[in-house]
Amino acid sequence: MEIRIEQVSKLFGDVKALDDITLTIEDGELFFLLGPSGCGKTTLLRCLGGFETPSAGKIFLGGEDVAGRPANERNTAMVFQGYALFPHLTVYENVSFGLEMRGVERVERDRRVKAALHNVQIEHLSGRKPNELSGGQQQRVALARTLVVEPGCLLLDEPLANLDAKLRRDMRHEIRRLCKDNGLTAVYVTHDRQEALSMADRVAVLKDGKIRQVGTPLEIYRNPADAFIANFIGETNFVPGKVLSCANGLYEVETSLGVLKGSSNRSWEKGSDVQLSMRPEALTLIQEGDVPDNVIDAELKQTAYLGEISDNLAEGSAGCLLKFFELNPKEGRVPGTRVRLGVRTQDIVILPPGGED
Ligand code: ATP
Repeated sequence: MEIRIEQVSKLFGDVKALDDITLTIEDGELFFLLGPSGCGKTTLLRCLGGFETPSAGKIFLGGEDVAGRPANERNTAMVFQGYALFPHLTVYENVSFGLEMRGVERVERDRRVKAALHNVQIEHLSGRKPNELSGGQQQRVALARTLVVEPGCLLLDEPLANLDAKLRRDMRHEIRRLCKDNGLTAVYVTHDRQEALSMADRVAVLKDGKIRQVGTPLEIYRNPADAFIANFIGETNFVPGKVLSCANGLYEVETSLGVLKGSSNRSWEKGSDVQLSMRPEALTLIQEGDVPDNVIDAELKQTAYLGEISDNLAEGSAGCLLKFFELNPKEGRVPGTRVRLGVRTQDIVILPPGGED
């Protein structure tokens, strides 16, 4: 079911929770709304589900303008953060409830409840009450309960927030599999960037009620539109500079670390003030025989050995601090020693100055 959001705004008193949002979510897409607390993502999800009414703009679900249609008359199903299971009903009864409300007859109901429980792999728990289940099992019941009504669109509000870290990672794959196996269009709200990167087909990053960027996880991580997104979606180093020259999408930028070559999918005039974004994993210690596009000389200031990586801080010229990771470190490093860091042109992203908030 395609979702079209056209110029939607939502005011709560003088708080503009949503500010002129326009967005199309394709049929069958697993789409993420990502952003810091208070950016408006839950409000947008609730507008889609019919739990809030936009102050302005239109929402089309499957081509139909749903203005004035209450939640129970929309072809959507919402998974809430707290699961909202009925404590006095068994797992089977919780999953069956929505079908009973819709007047689905008993034999068909039984078939669909069993299929939904099978889908989320909890058939063996059907006689238990919610307080006899782990957090992850409760989450599966909440998912089964929404899948069973065969919605055109699944709305998920931080569905993994109450689970521990390991279960959260396992459930990521599970939820993506369920959406894809069932051909569902799903809108998923989170402030967890790794959840969004690992699960989404596409992501919209929101800030202060506005969409700042829409793209695939790879596009958003590798080509953030501005400093706020670069920083929100992962760790990065910002280095201010001035564009010296440009040719075929490659730019030479003068910085306190020397002239660095970077790339950009937008065009910059010679002389423009910019800032470069370089992720810690893109800065690598130069090995013998390497021919890096850029070389940065620095002094190691701090190092933390973490097993699979070491997490390091180095100081380049003019006191410019750079965080870098060393993958699979085989020797300890000593603060105070000189390091030479290499970075590829396509790993240096040119951004407008400022805009970190
Ligand atoms: P979080 O991750 O903390 O849930 P969010 O991005 O989902 O945040 P929203 O819950 O959509 O943010 O809230 C957006 C803004 O609207 C916030 O400033 C919030 O305080 C405000 N807001 C949300 N609901 C209401 C309400 N019912 N009445 C008044 N203000 C509200």
